[in-house]
Amino acid sequence: MFELTKSQKEIQKAARDFAKGEFDKEIAYELELKGEFPRKIWKKAADLGFLGIHYPESFSGGGMGILENVLITETFCRSDSSIGSALALATSGSECILRFASDGLKTGFLPRLAEGDILSAIALTETRRGADFRFIQTTAEKRGENWVINGTKQYVDNGGNPDTGLYIVLCRTALDDSPPETGLSLFLVESDRTGLASRPMGRKLGNNLTATSTLTLNNVEVPESNLIGGPGAGYDLLRRYFDESRILAAARALGNAFGSFDRMLEYVKGRVQFGKKIAEFQVSQHKIADMATKIELARLITYKAAWTFDQGKPDSSLSSMAKLTAARTAMEVGAQTIQLFGGYGYMTEYEVERYYRDAKVIELQEGIKDVQKDTIASHIIGKIR
Ligand SMILES: Cc1cc2nc3c(=O)[nH]c(=O)nc-3n(C[C@H](O)[C@H](O)[C@H](O)COP(=O)(O)OP(=O)(O)OC[C@H]3O[C@@H](n4cnc5c(N)ncnc54)[C@H](O)[C@@H]3O)c2cc1C
Repeated sequence: MFELTKSQKEIQKAARDFAKGEFDKEIAYELELKGEFPRKIWKKAADLGFLGIHYPESFSGGGMGILENVLITETFCRSDSSIGSALALATSGSECILRFASDGLKTGFLPRLAEGDILSAIALTETRRGADFRFIQTTAEKRGENWVINGTKQYVDNGGNPDTGLYIVLCRTALDDSPPETGLSLFLVESDRTGLASRPMGRKLGNNLTATSTLTLNNVEVPESNLIGGPGAGYDLLRRYFDESRILAAARALGNAFGSFDRMLEYVKGRVQFGKKIAEFQVSQHKIADMATKIELARLITYKAAWTFDQGKPDSSLSSMAKLTAARTAMEVGAQTIQLFGGYGYMTEYEVERYYRDAKVIELQEGIKDVQKDTIASHIIGKIR
């Protein structure tokens, strides 16, 4: 897979044209100051079919693959890291519905997500359980026909946004000593359920166009039909969800790295120091060569992971490699870009400081770096007797 198809190139171009017309650094700056979601742009992106492109057409999606989603996400984040990320996270966790939920839940929620009617969120992390979510403490107890959920989640992207229509919540359903493999379950919780409350977690380093909140669930009742994939299936489903969500996180990082690089390249070709353009110093050229090489590697592995997933052969190790590589690349390219800009790179006006801040969270979300390495290593080494 070394060349995109004609249709994939057209999607890339459409995403580029849309971003060129709608994304604007002044808008991003204002939204970041106010910590506001790019609502108008989100609505327009949905109208043009950029959201849920990997959902079937019967659910208002584009009927395409995760690779097409990667191309859109990468292009949007390249054009503006904060707006692009906010749009990518607009359907956060929705792959749990797409891949594992009943037809009723798919019909009820996927079209609304694709059409920009609601946002979604995924709530896994807790105060005492972050990277290690196997022993989470939020519980769901069966009472009569319903499940009753109690617990607190934190770092929930889109949490508390008035447009958020649903949360995918990881709960413990086996209240004995059952292992995570059989004791966890995933629920879809509508945001208007009684007992659900959210509050903002405070100021953040980056990704400031997406709200990040604490979510409390106090005797929240949901019907049996909101259980995704059956009781005790949560651990396995999440593992499979990460195969896909980590590729999308890699796409955000890839776009972010490209965005920093583009801005850096334009700048170093114009700025003169010691009688030369900065791009004329051999040391700058070698830095540029290293950055371009890293981005190309990140691009190849991200596309390969997406393409492999679309062939019906999800590969946890490849997804983790893609996210690990792309997130690291975004951090390294971002830091080097600021260095080549000099002092201007540190200033808000030139955007690259925002790209750098937006990049860091990708090393934390969808599993920290150490978890990606654990996944890759266990795949390679297998069981040790
Ligand atoms: C802005 C933002 C948005 C987020 N959005 C969401 C969201 O929408 N939904 C959601 O559920 N979560 C979300 N998260 C949470 C994110 O997934 C967690 O922060 C991440 O899983 C790490 O968990 P933790 O913060 O509790 O850190 P911890 O688990 O306490 O880990 C802290 C550090 O300890 C070390 N460490 C931990 N475990 C290991 C290990 N096995 N091996 C080696 N070292 C280890 C690592 O250095 C690690 O970085 C978000 C986080 C942020 C900051």
